[in-house]
Amino acid sequence: MKDLYNREIDYLRISVTDRCNLRCLYCMPDGIETIEKSKIIRDEDIIQIINEASKTGIKKVRITGGEPLVRSGIYELIRKIRSVKAIEEVVLTTNGILLKGHVKELKDSGVSRVNLSIDSLRESTVNGIVGSTLDFSYLELIKELHEHNMTPIKINTVLLKGVNDHEVLDFYNFSDQYDCEVRFIELMPFESDRFNYNDYYISKEVILKRNSLVLSRKLNNVEYYTMPNSTKEIGFINAVSSKFCEDCNRLRLTSDGYIKPCLHSNKELLVKGKTDEDVLEVIKKAIKEKPKQHKLDKSYTNSSKRSMNKIGG
Ligand code: SAM
Ligand code: SF4
Repeated sequence: MKDLYNREIDYLRISVTDRCNLRCLYCMPDGIETIEKSKIIRDEDIIQIINEASKTGIKKVRITGGEPLVRSGIYELIRKIRSVKAIEEVVLTTNGILLKGHVKELKDSGVSRVNLSIDSLRESTVNGIVGSTLDFSYLELIKELHEHNMTPIKINTVLLKGVNDHEVLDFYNFSDQYDCEVRFIELMPFESDRFNYNDYYISKEVILKRNSLVLSRKLNNVEYYTMPNSTKEIGFINAVSSKFCEDCNRLRLTSDGYIKPCLHSNKELLVKGKTDEDVLEVIKKAIKEKPKQHKLDKSYTNSSKRSMNKIGG
């Protein structure tokens, strides 16, 4: 179904839990204030919502969170989602910690590709960002993903001033060496007393200038850059400064059962616990109420009251 601005909305991102086994400083700096367990959306609600959403033209689903793999029964849930007839693709965004040794299980459940969040190639920097000491090898997980042909492997890296912004070249070489697609995600603001956005925000222009990167192409929300004399590309997703709202094709379902027409707006419509007819009406309303664009670039604050773990990044 098209929205008021002629965008075909065919993609649903589902936050299956707000819980996470990490505490990334830009995502969950305020600790572990969680949604009451009884309010977390159940498997049957998710399947009902996907069934109804598919009637409006939703064809692709991304499973995210919080950390989606901490939800118990996640592989069974994915299997059920994949069996909804109209759903053509199910993908997953994960920090990867619980995925090692389970890639086959994930693939067999019906996930075709994974976005892996890795913010630094240096152990001490990773530990500083995620707020704990990780005993974890991303390389082994990447190898396992390749072994099961879960490719392309996309790596999400949030660039943070003074923390990991000097690792751009390292990531470029890493993506070449391990056959991954690295995409630098621009830091997005949200309300938090413990995280000062302006202390960590770094613009794409500064990064490009420092690293002599040259634009090679744009595809949907990603701008791809290369180094001189190289064909390897590295992506930038700049939701704040180069907004891609005109190509936005997505809705979000929060882990407590609200549809969010836009990540950066506080508008949300309760969709859980309703009849099939009402669920369909709410989804249609959400598509109709999808705003033309966000205003983050104007104010650098976020009117969304939820942090990313509660919305689903
Ligand atoms: N736990 C999973 C993970 O980390 O991949 C999935 C959920 S996480 C909220 C999804 C993505 O959102 C991650 O790549 C994370 O880096 C990104 N993210 C979280 N907070 C963000 C922020 N304030 N600005 C930009 N990206 C953010
Ligand atoms: Fe957890 Fe992902 Fe948020 Fe990090 S970015 S705290 S891994 S939900």
